[in-house]
Amino acid sequence: MKAQRTRSQERILQLLKNVKRAISAQDLYIKLRKSNQNMGLATVYRSLEALKLQGEIQVRTLPNGESVYSSIHQDQHHLTCVNCGNSIPIAECPVHDLEHQLEQSHHFKVYYHTLEFFGVCDRCQLAQDA
Ligand SMILES: [Zn+2]
Ligand SMILES: [Zn+2]
Repeated sequence: MKAQRTRSQERILQLLKNVKRAISAQDLYIKLRKSNQNMGLATVYRSLEALKLQGEIQVRTLPNGESVYSSIHQDQHHLTCVNCGNSIPIAECPVHDLEHQLEQSHHFKVYYHTLEFFGVCDRCQLAQDA
């Protein structure tokens, strides 16, 4: 399925590729304004939804309930501390091969996957022990 992307979607996708991290729709909106690309918040949300359906971006929900968006070409996983909310990126993707296997066995086109580990970070462990 080759969807025709709107100009707003193109701008958002480009921005997400440039920032190289997951950001919220609100932050995205602010960034667009700063670069003089006026776009309403509703348009930002609508474009993000369309890009998600096209399999171009992924959504991650933070422990505080906020949704952050990133380009799917960043296969990035995190260790997230439930105490301080700190997210530590991990270098490797342990399910990369599994993704290919599932695509084959289920004839399913996988756009992206999410994998996140929750626990307590080293600093919070130290604070707890003290
Ligand atoms: Zn912590
Ligand atoms: Zn991965």
